[in-house]
Amino acid sequence: MSEISLLPEVRAFLARDHGHFIDGQYIGGTSGLTTPIVNPATGETIAIVAAADAAQIDAAVNAARRAFTGSWAATLPYQRGAILNRFADLIEAHGEELAQLETLCSGKSIHLSRMFEVGQSAIFLRYYAGWATKINGETMSPSFPSLMGEQYAAFTRREPVGVVAGIVPWNFSVMIGVWKIAAALTTGCTLVLKPSEFTPLTLLRLAELAIEAGVPAGVLNIVNGQGNVGSQLVDHPRVAKVTFTGSVPTGLKVGQQAMAANLTRVTLELGGKNAAALLPDFDLQGAVAGLIQTGYVHQGQVCAAPERVYVPRARLDEVLETFSGVLRGAPIGSPLDESVQFGPLANKPQFDKVLGFFEKAWAESRIVCGGKALDRPGYFVEPTVVVANGAADSLLHEETFGPIICFLPYDDVDELPALMNDSPFGLTASIWTNDLSRAMRLIPQIEAGTLYVNMHTFLDPSVPFGGIKASGIGREFGSAFIDDYTELKSVMIRY
Ligand code: NAD
Repeated sequence: MSEISLLPEVRAFLARDHGHFIDGQYIGGTSGLTTPIVNPATGETIAIVAAADAAQIDAAVNAARRAFTGSWAATLPYQRGAILNRFADLIEAHGEELAQLETLCSGKSIHLSRMFEVGQSAIFLRYYAGWATKINGETMSPSFPSLMGEQYAAFTRREPVGVVAGIVPWNFSVMIGVWKIAAALTTGCTLVLKPSEFTPLTLLRLAELAIEAGVPAGVLNIVNGQGNVGSQLVDHPRVAKVTFTGSVPTGLKVGQQAMAANLTRVTLELGGKNAAALLPDFDLQGAVAGLIQTGYVHQGQVCAAPERVYVPRARLDEVLETFSGVLRGAPIGSPLDESVQFGPLANKPQFDKVLGFFEKAWAESRIVCGGKALDRPGYFVEPTVVVANGAADSLLHEETFGPIICFLPYDDVDELPALMNDSPFGLTASIWTNDLSRAMRLIPQIEAGTLYVNMHTFLDPSVPFGGIKASGIGREFGSAFIDDYTELKSVMIRY
């Protein structure tokens, strides 16, 4: 087992003075507040990033507002699409550099950084680029009576809402950041993006590539810092919309604050406690491989991943045996080692949180495999399988956002809707079966924004994604995002 070599440009980038990207300029901070960026695989500090002060936040929003009414408004739709496509090309051309940077900050395996943070980011950008020329209103025929021969026409226009504040988490910081950038820019909005304090570096580099791709200065700005920087953005009077991805407690604060600030539009992509149900006919090898692939990817730090699995009681033992057999043999180690499947958790607070869930699992439930931290530097834990003692166990209800799947046996398929819906969350869910009739009857009964059959966790730009219940408000992707980034203006004409 050996680590790949870091590219010289990655070492050079890490050594830079990091702060923000405002009005086309890479700038250091002036507030004196800084955040160390820690490599979760080693616990070592790899860079220092300055936190934005109030004047810098204001400068970023003002730059975005100037670009919204100036350079970006003057850009034709097809030009916006062409720029986003060039941006995707540059992300691919710098793919290895971006992937290495993101792995160093997030602990994500280098394969995942290459595949998702780089590859999927380019795919999503290209999808959104195609929308730039297809965002249109409708024409209507009013029924007003004509008393003196006059006639009426009406149409709607889709107009960009203005400056968008994007606030993103640390788990897929580049890809989720790109979702916000692409949706804002293709609709004609401009953006101030606040990365997570744990993973700000790659997005700063991305902002430079955006300029190289032809995005005018001020259209995409990045301000760094802790939650208070995000909060100041939400409050800013020139921010027209907030798009937030993160935890439920923060999302609640952001939503309430946005309403109180200016009735600012807000979309919230929040957490989940996603259920998977194995129906009596499920295919053992297929379901186990699918749930391991999607439940433990990036150490389970994926909002859409399955965290609780309902299994027919008679088949619980064979599922647990197969599951734990695969997990016990999985290589854990440096995420820069291409032969490794499991890396570290992404940061110390997340590591402490997962250790807390291990304690709960040892106390309340039955741990079948895993359940411990590794005795080595960095934030490594074992992939873990838990069996709940009953439907009330905490591991069936609290989002762990870690490599822990909790199983519960059931006796009758009719129990499944109540079991699966017994959660404040409603992000994703899956059913595993080849019984089409049963699957089709269950789909309308499950409370989730996305329901998968014989798969879980996958996201595609053409398919709307978002949560119901406490998992959020609004949808990304598909054509659904357009409603959230544009105002509908009605025009009526008498002639
Ligand atoms: P978090 O809520 O702690 O932080 C998210 C972002 O909000 C960070 O940039 C943070 O600095 C900022 N923030 C914190 N306090 C703020 C405040 N008061 N006002 C404005 N901004 C503030 O979440 P996290 O720990 O970074 O991410 C993990 C969570 O994100 C999990 O719950 C996960 O399920 C969720 N998530 C959801 C999706 C989705 O699409 N539904 C995707 C990824 C992650």
